[in-house]
This record gives sequence, C-alpha cells and structure tokens, in this order.
Amino acid sequence: MTAQSSLHNGRIIDGKALAATIIADIKQAVAALGMKPGLAVVLVGNDPASSVYVRNKSARAEECGFESVTISMSSDVSEAELLGAIDRLNRDDRIHGILVQLPLPSRINANRIVEAIDPDKDVDGFHVVNAGRLAVGDMSAAFIPCTPLGIIALLKEALGANLSGKHAVVVGRSNIVGKPVAALLLAENCSVSIVHSKTEQPQLICQQADIVVAAVGVARLLDRAWIKPGAVVIDVGINRVCNEAGETQLVGDVDFDAVKDIASSITPVPGGVGPMTIAMLLRNTLESARKSHPQ
Ligand code: NAD
Repeated sequence: MTAQSSLHNGRIIDGKALAATIIADIKQAVAALGMKPGLAVVLVGNDPASSVYVRNKSARAEECGFESVTISMSSDVSEAELLGAIDRLNRDDRIHGILVQLPLPSRINANRIVEAIDPDKDVDGFHVVNAGRLAVGDMSAAFIPCTPLGIIALLKEALGANLSGKHAVVVGRSNIVGKPVAALLLAENCSVSIVHSKTEQPQLICQQADIVVAAVGVARLLDRAWIKPGAVVIDVGINRVCNEAGETQLVGDVDFDAVKDIASSITPVPGGVGPMTIAMLLRNTLESARKSHPQ
C-alpha cells in the first residue's frame, strides 16, 4: 500500500457536541419527570484534579435540574466516618445516585467503600454487583461505568448503530475503563482483544483492529505503527505534559497528529471522551430516579 492510499483524513468525533445533545435530552426528561433526580458526590481530601472533576459534575447536574449534593471530607477522615456518610446517602430517598470520587487516600480501602454503596444507587457502575451484571450481559439491570458507556456512544456516532463483527482492540485492562469497555464491545458482537502492559508486541495486535480504544495513561503511546489505515480511534487518556512553550497541556494516549490522517475517525483530547463521561453519569442518575419512581 502506498503512503498516499493509506490517508483517510480522520474525521474528528466531537464528544463535546454529542455530550451537549445528550445533556439537552436529559434536561427535557427531568423537566417532564415531576421530581428532581438526586446525585451525591463524596470527595475526600483536596486533590486539585479531583476537586475540578467534582465541581464539573455538580455544575452539570444542577444545570440539568438535578438535586446535587457534594460531601467534602478531610483527607484524614476515618474509614468508619466515610462508611457512615455512605450509609446515610443509601437511606436518603432524595438521592438516586452516589459516587465516591477516586482515588481515595491509600490508607482507605477503596473497594470496601465502593462495595458499601447501594448497587441500585451506584451510578458509576463500579460495585461488584454491577460489574457482575455487565459481565453476564444483564444490561437492563446493570449500572454501566460512565466512560465505557460514552465510548460506545462515540463509536456509534462514527460507525452507526451496528458494530457487529468489527475487530476491537482495547489497550488497558483497568476495572473502570478497559475491562467494562471490552465487555460492552463484546455485547455489541465485536471480536475483542485486550492489550496491556504485559502484552508482547502490542502494536502487532492493535494494527489489526477496526476499532482501537486507548485507555493507558501514557502520553502519545499509540503512534502510526499501532493503527490500521481506516480504523476508528477512541482516545481515553488524559495526560498532562509540558509543551515547547513550557506550558502544561492535556494530551491523550494516542499521538493525535501522527494518527489523524490514517484513522477514519478519531476523538481529540480534550473534547472527546471526557465530556461524554459526565453526560453518561447524569443519564445513569436519571435512570436510577426513574426506576425508584415508576410512572
Ligand atoms: P489504569 O492505570 O488503571 O490502567 C492502565 C492500563 O494500561 C493498565 O491495565 C495497564 O496494563 C495498561 N498499560 C500500561 N502501560 C501499557 C503499555 N505500555 N502498553 C499497553 N498497555 C499498557 O488507568 P485507567 O484508570 O484505565 O485510565 C487510563 C487513562 O484514561 C488515564 O490517562 C486516565 O486519566 C484516563 N481516563 C479518562 C477518563 C475520561 O473521562 N476521559 C476516565 C477514566 C480514565
């Protein structure tokens, strides 16, 4: 294949625009619901990135007409106090979605905290009950993690509703992105490969993919050698790097400039997966509110 024939002029998949459409639909649905969905976010400590994420979630929730509650706890909170706060939220009928902003301080057992959330209010979809529902394909009962849900919506934006038969390669196997997105792609009848830090020659596997989802956390790891011409590339990574002017810049796990003209479609960072994550969190919370007040 000549260099010329491998050019695909990657279409930019606009996550900001798609998220705005989803949020507009949620606002309308909330207005018609006759009640306020309630979202509670628990923030421990004062990590600047976590504080920004929590503020964004809360602002978006309020914009959609939700009741938004942020519970801020100091970094030396005990596990028992944190469990007590979750227990109160589990029993609060005004709250339909609970999330604990991760990461937690290392002395706190994050699994124990997440498992304390009522699975029917676990709008992040991190509880083992929801992970299990997803694993067995019980999609209607499961809360599915928000970033993977957003990734599937972006893929359907690029490829249409039918992903069946595509070879999808997921780079990364975390519980919050890699594994659940692989399960969702399988449920969409893709053939799924997972590549991770111990995979030998990951480029060779990735090169065969029609769909590449990069969720690694290594700036610009995936260059042209990883991508088949015409593939759809979803970049989940959020990495802070210093640019030539000495300023901090956000970049993904994909070398966007190197890949954009061989991919058929590609998400940018920022403006791709990030905005979809919040939109899906609000959608999960709306669904939870609907389930608790069937009409
Ligand atoms: P993680 O650190 O939990 O997992 C990273 C995965 O990458 C691991 O499974 C590891 O095996 C794999 N990996 C590491 N080095 C590799 C290599 N050289 N080759 C192949 N695989 C390798 O990370 P995570 O929580 O899944 O997040 C991944 C990235 O996505 C991060 O940059 C994170 O900030 C970002 N993220 C973005 C959003 C969003 O809303 N946009 C949400 C969650 C995570």
